[in-house]
Amino acid sequence: MSDQEARDQEYYRALLQEAVRSGGELHDPAAWLKETDIVSHDFPYAARLIAESFREWRTESAPQYAKHWDWCVLSHEAKWIGPAVQTVPGREDTERRLRSKWLEYAAISLASGEIFAAPEQMDGQQIYLMTFPLRTRKLGEIFALLCCAMPAVQYEQGGWHTAEAMAMHFPVCFYRNFEHLFVSDLARTHQQAERENNRRSLLFQIVQRMHDNIDVNAVLSEVIDSILAMYPGARLDLFMSQDHRSTHPQVKPLQLRLGSDDVCARAFKDGQITLNAGRDESDIVEIGLPLGGKQGVYGVFHMIMDKPSFPEVDLRFLAMVADTAGTAFENAKLYERSNQLIRELRMSNELTQRLNQSLRLGDIFQYAFEELLEMFGADYCCILHMNEEKGGLEVIACNHLPLVGEIIGCGEGISGKVYTTGEAIILSDFAGTPGAKSRLMEATRSQSLIAVPLNVGGVVRGTIMLAHQSAHFFSYDSFRLLQAMAGHIGLAVGNARLHAEVRYLANRDSLTGLYARHYLDEEIKERMTADFCGSLIVVDIDQFKTVNDTYGHQRGDKILKQVSEIIKSSIRQGDIAARWGGEELAVYLPQLGVQQAVNVAERIRKRVMGETEPRVTVSCGVAEWSWIDERVSVESLFYRADMALYEAKNNGRNLVVIDSALTEGLIKKPLA
Ligand code: GH3
Ligand code: MG
Ligand code: MG
Repeated sequence: MSDQEARDQEYYRALLQEAVRSGGELHDPAAWLKETDIVSHDFPYAARLIAESFREWRTESAPQYAKHWDWCVLSHEAKWIGPAVQTVPGREDTERRLRSKWLEYAAISLASGEIFAAPEQMDGQQIYLMTFPLRTRKLGEIFALLCCAMPAVQYEQGGWHTAEAMAMHFPVCFYRNFEHLFVSDLARTHQQAERENNRRSLLFQIVQRMHDNIDVNAVLSEVIDSILAMYPGARLDLFMSQDHRSTHPQVKPLQLRLGSDDVCARAFKDGQITLNAGRDESDIVEIGLPLGGKQGVYGVFHMIMDKPSFPEVDLRFLAMVADTAGTAFENAKLYERSNQLIRELRMSNELTQRLNQSLRLGDIFQYAFEELLEMFGADYCCILHMNEEKGGLEVIACNHLPLVGEIIGCGEGISGKVYTTGEAIILSDFAGTPGAKSRLMEATRSQSLIAVPLNVGGVVRGTIMLAHQSAHFFSYDSFRLLQAMAGHIGLAVGNARLHAEVRYLANRDSLTGLYARHYLDEEIKERMTADFCGSLIVVDIDQFKTVNDTYGHQRGDKILKQVSEIIKSSIRQGDIAARWGGEELAVYLPQLGVQQAVNVAERIRKRVMGETEPRVTVSCGVAEWSWIDERVSVESLFYRADMALYEAKNNGRNLVVIDSALTEGLIKKPLA
């Protein structure tokens, strides 16, 4: 017994049990099957079964002496069914006559519903022809006719009884075959149902597993593994259209396959399953299976298998799996996207919070530099800010230290290009990009770069660059994110600049550009707590009232400005020049003793005398404080400098006089 037959029997048994259980009254398990029958509607389809039964019947039921009788079987309409017509050379005519006689008698048998027999003369021999109507077991309808031809001698010796018995056996043979066919049909239906059931549960499992996964890569791995588990002999790749990076070895970029008219390109374009069975000699079949969701097609599964295994493939099922995968992929992608947005929001929130902690430009650049490095996982970050005085982009912050403080020309390299064009740049392969120049990229041997302009209040003020040594490191999302972050940084820089400007204005005298008196007071007070010593020069224009009276107030203002400029350009960077009030100016020289202060005052006095137009002179009073003094205060320092000035005025003006406490009454005479 073959496996198939064993399965059939097993199923048959189960089926009968089921029939008994449901029928209740059927005591003979086979009875229900015996009840099944063919009816006239089935006759047109019964020819094959009749022909097969005929073959079997002949080999198993004819007794030895009846072996050489001629037999045939005809349909319920007296049409030839079997055996296949064979012409024995020399007997063609005889056989043709035999066949036509049988058909003739069959018509008689059909009309009467009875067995018909008649003698005939053939090849000079007396023979008997018979036709037996065959009836269905339930309704008794004639479904076929069995015809026999035997020598007359045998007929008369009882051969016709044997023929009749043999004819009666035929329906047994036929029904055995019929039942077998019926049962195997049932079994096949059952198997199909079972297979469909398996398929559904498999699909359900896949769907569940895929939708459990909110990770894009996990979804792709899951679907690849599921398909391969179903068709272990197949080769499967997944070609993705987007810049989707995956660690799965079977996930590859789609560009590789586009352009050609292969199954992948077609499946991607049409969004439908595509087949390529190749030419006849090809022994493989290619399947292109689109991975698509509601918003489009994301990629194509490319499946290759050998032709013999292809009939096993259920394309509808594959398409369902791919559809499911597409939807799951899309969902996971959306989830990833929303997570990304949340992450970006959180990062931008953190960055702005940090940036808002300070209004000092230096702090802001430092914070931005630290945050960006961490946020993007970059190897290098470089922030450049326009320095008008130095005529180029100054590297304010960079973790490649040799670059810090360097000045990059406005049109120079990538940073200069971003600055001048105001357009962001993304590079995935620096070395492979013709014409790309960048000191940062070259010095750090980096391959990936994103560079964006630093926009402050609508004006590009610098460039922000992030670099990584691996190629293709930054995604387009990172690029976009850096642009957004640069916006926040630009805002903070703008605030800091504004704040610096306000502070500058608040501490300055608008006419002369010198510091205001309150600023000078505060600065000296602060220095007195931190330094060891310092000097103060009070400068007063001589006879300024007369200058005003002679040339007018506007000319007077101009002279005041000239004198202020002379003072500014006569002192060092750390010195503080202020307008003390009216035409009285003051310079504080931190950490400087009185002798050096006198030199400065002398320089100022001489330059004023030589450079002002109309010419004026100034008188200066100089005082000094030191940490050894008993009492140190801003007021007393000013008072003493003022006293010295008073002395200078009293002694003929255009003079520098030192505080009398220091010189014990000695007045320093002008040198020239
Ligand atoms: P000296 O200091 O040599 O004793 O004579 P002086 O004429 O300079 O002294 P005084 O203190 O009497 O006069 C100061 C004058 O300076 C009075 C005022 O008209 C003038 N002055 C003060 N502030 C300004 C200013 O901002 N612009 C102009 N044009 N004049 C000013
Ligand atoms: Mg004066
Ligand atoms: Mg004065």
